[in-house]
Amino acid sequence: MSSEKEFVRKLENKVKDTIKKFKLISPKDKVLVAVSGGKDSTTILYVLKKLGYNVEAITVDAVIGTYTKENLKNIKNFCKQNNVKIHIVSFKKAYGYSLNEIVSLIKSKGWNLLPCTVCGILRRYLINLYSRKLKADKVVTGHNLDDEAQAFMMNLLKNKKEMNARLGPYPGIIRDPKFVPRVKPLYFTSEKDVEKYSRIMDFPVKYGRCPCAVDAYRNYIRNMLNELEKDYPDIKQNIVKYLLKNLSKWKKEIKLTEKLLACKKCKEPSRSEICRTCQLLNFVKKPS
Ligand code: SF4
Ligand SMILES: [Zn+2]
Repeated sequence: MSSEKEFVRKLENKVKDTIKKFKLISPKDKVLVAVSGGKDSTTILYVLKKLGYNVEAITVDAVIGTYTKENLKNIKNFCKQNNVKIHIVSFKKAYGYSLNEIVSLIKSKGWNLLPCTVCGILRRYLINLYSRKLKADKVVTGHNLDDEAQAFMMNLLKNKKEMNARLGPYPGIIRDPKFVPRVKPLYFTSEKDVEKYSRIMDFPVKYGRCPCAVDAYRNYIRNMLNELEKDYPDIKQNIVKYLLKNLSKWKKEIKLTEKLLACKKCKEPSRSEICRTCQLLNFVKKPS
């Protein structure tokens, strides 16, 4: 077997083993893969389809100029070629504005939030809403080993233990029927390996970063881990192993303090009276 074929087989087996070990997806599940047109989500969509899961794709267009235009074109073509149904949701349609417009409006009210923070909250909200409408059993995301190790270190260095309790291949603390569970089958697969797989398969994806990804803190942690990895090759795996060893204990601790409410405005599940999406949208509403 050629080394490329061997690499492809190993990556696919790693995904299979991760799904089995953490019971991420069952063969009966309707699975919605949250795709961006990037290498991670395209890879996991392809692998799950190849493994025979009942997959559809959902993409949220945050309307970030040519970046999202090209990604959207790529992922639409990919889905067509691979016979995957794709659902497209847009910030403009759902919220009335593009991501950058929303971030500027929030800034004009005196709040300086990172585009990725705003994008993450608004995107997760729409994905949950639509996956519930589409009766999906699971939402799959393209999070890989590097993403998880970075998230853990970011939380640790900011002393946010409760945020680390929300990580893991099957995240979430309180199960609510209005939350469609999100799972991460690429949990043990490094970013480098995902990129290699995507290049071998010649997926139509852009490899650059999103122009709005200006989170200096995450970049710092990413660079630090990549530097450390040169001398300590297992560092990211070890971080994730440590996380998994402690995860259930942290979850139990948080469960004692956490309550899920229904947002007073939109009725979606929320940890506060008004959910974070409604709080953000309050900033962008035109005065009547
Ligand atoms: S990098 Fe940030 S702004 Fe860009 S799509 Fe991802 S979350 Fe949104
Ligand atoms: Zn709300």
